[in-house]
Amino acid sequence: MEFTVRTRRKRELVDITDRVQQAVRAQEVSEGLCCVYVPHATAAVVVNENADPQVCEDLLDALEKLFPDGVWRHDRVDGNASAHLKASVVGPSKVIPVVGGRLALGRWQAVMLAEFDGPRERRVVVVVR
Ligand code: ZN
Repeated sequence: MEFTVRTRRKRELVDITDRVQQAVRAQEVSEGLCCVYVPHATAAVVVNENADPQVCEDLLDALEKLFPDGVWRHDRVDGNASAHLKASVVGPSKVIPVVGGRLALGRWQAVMLAEFDGPRERRVVVVVR
């Protein structure tokens, strides 16, 4: 199945844990694997803490320091090389175990869509087996 997320900022992490969990429930798989994937070149999937949202801000800042805007070859094409680099390093998917019909996330883990070139409408594909 898949769902869409409307991002609001150029760069942000959007918590999609509840929607992914709903997708897992709908599949009625009690033990298995859940793949969360975004079919985009400038977005990614992150699993980390969102209880303190500053963790998300820190991740975005760290990626910004690694991949600043405006200094890459692809910036001469469409000006978003930094977003492509961030999305490549973070990756378009994560696999999360399903145990007892639920995502086996740790207490502080959340599943987040990472937007690096928004605002846009993003697709999230969830496959559970
Ligand atoms: Zn581009």
